[in-house]
Amino acid sequence: MKILFYDTKNYDRDFFEKLLSSYPDIRIKFIEANLQEETAALAKGYDAVCAFVNADLGAPVIRELGSQGVRLILMRCAGYNNVDLRAAKEAGIPVLRVPGYSPQAVAEHAMALALTANRHTHKAYIKCRENNFALNGLMGVNFYQKTAGIIGTGKIGQAMAKICRGFGMKVLAYDCFPSDDLDFVRYVSLDTLLAQSDLISLHCPLTEETRHMICRDSIARMKDGVILVNTSRGGLIKTEDLIAGIRDHKFFAVGLDVYEEESAYVYEDMSSDILPTSTIQRLLSFPNVTMTSHQGFFTEEALTSIAKTTLENARAFQNGEALTNEVRSL
Ligand code: NAD
Repeated sequence: MKILFYDTKNYDRDFFEKLLSSYPDIRIKFIEANLQEETAALAKGYDAVCAFVNADLGAPVIRELGSQGVRLILMRCAGYNNVDLRAAKEAGIPVLRVPGYSPQAVAEHAMALALTANRHTHKAYIKCRENNFALNGLMGVNFYQKTAGIIGTGKIGQAMAKICRGFGMKVLAYDCFPSDDLDFVRYVSLDTLLAQSDLISLHCPLTEETRHMICRDSIARMKDGVILVNTSRGGLIKTEDLIAGIRDHKFFAVGLDVYEEESAYVYEDMSSDILPTSTIQRLLSFPNVTMTSHQGFFTEEALTSIAKTTLENARAFQNGEALTNEVRSL
């Protein structure tokens, strides 16, 4: 089986190549170009393409992949909001993903963002390096005995709930399918969670229903001085409304690993470029906003698991086995 691996970074290549010797029937061509309309034709002659969170897998790209003979789309990530599943179904191309490769990796990053945004450790580090030992601007709040609100208690949300409990927080949660495994969590309505939480962390997928769930109206229903963290998908938050809320002093701190507009930038060094949009820079101009570049997944354990499951997905397809990690349109 020949796989064209789009948007290769050195770490992707390292982790996949480490395992490839166990899959003698799979050959991978690693290329730097990302998957988009202009590059879909490169897949001619390949059985499968492998893509990540910032690839364009809209209907035109999928139709082009189909016309080039591609039979399988391997997403090396959990989320698949960037894939037009209906178009994939029409083209007869199964879409496989990597669910739950390391929920702790993302949850630990969510807490790291919450702590950094709260205690300003990113600024403290720079200040100390410059012999500025003053504490002005670094004041935070305790998490101990505060209330965490987890929106979406799947694999990552559950891991985050456990971390919050470890900090001595009360944990509220909102999910359309509450879990029986979290006996220390109190499931409440979204309204109650918004009104009572000191720390709100988003862990539900981006769907038509959840897009812009954090907007002017939901922000107004939050506690003043709330800390908001998003490691799920940028589209869960309506950025303009978030900016308005920050300007209104609604938030003590905001930590964002994902944001609208990110797909043009993430994983690229654009430090010498004049960026065509400025929403990210507007967010970063606020002293209480901390951002990272969609790196919640970025641990050795997660990359090992992503490579293994992606190769297992390819092998299962090749052998005509049940595709347990297939995502389908409704
Ligand atoms: P999961 O499928 O295990 O859990 C998602 C949970 O959200 C489920 O319990 C589901 O019932 C709930 N949910 C769905 N719609 C909802 C709604 N409208 N309101 C409330 N809850 C709702 O997924 P997961 O593995 O925990 O991942 C969660 C998300 O994290 C992914 O969809 C992905 O977008 C994101 N993610 C980010 C990174 C990163 O690097 N930052 C890495 C992996 C995943």
